[in-house]
Amino acid sequence: MTPILEQLEALFEIECQTHRHDLKRLAEVSADRDRLRAFCRELFAESEWPAGSDIGGFTFQELAVAHGLLREETRTEPCVKGCHCEQNYGIKELAKGLTCYRKADWLAEKIEAPHG
Ligand SMILES: [Zn+2]
Repeated sequence: MTPILEQLEALFEIECQTHRHDLKRLAEVSADRDRLRAFCRELFAESEWPAGSDIGGFTFQELAVAHGLLREETRTEPCVKGCHCEQNYGIKELAKGLTCYRKADWLAEKIEAPHG
């Protein structure tokens, strides 16, 4: 193979890698969109919109877990300083093992506040 063909082949491989990366990222973003869409549809249904009703915090949390916006973690110590699990149950109860609800990585703020 001539040097120019080798260079073209190397450039083509770089382009292919970039394209594969872009496709993978597009699939991830599409999956996030689909989860969010399904979550929103259930919130609309639960709220009985447009007639209007409230959505309970527990229902909201259950739907968020079901659609991947929150993940459940069993913790025996605070996941972050000031974790609401510690504040609500105390360090002794937390030490026995409690479910802590954490935002999905794709939803979390860059500097995550406790359950913020
Ligand atoms: Zn926690």
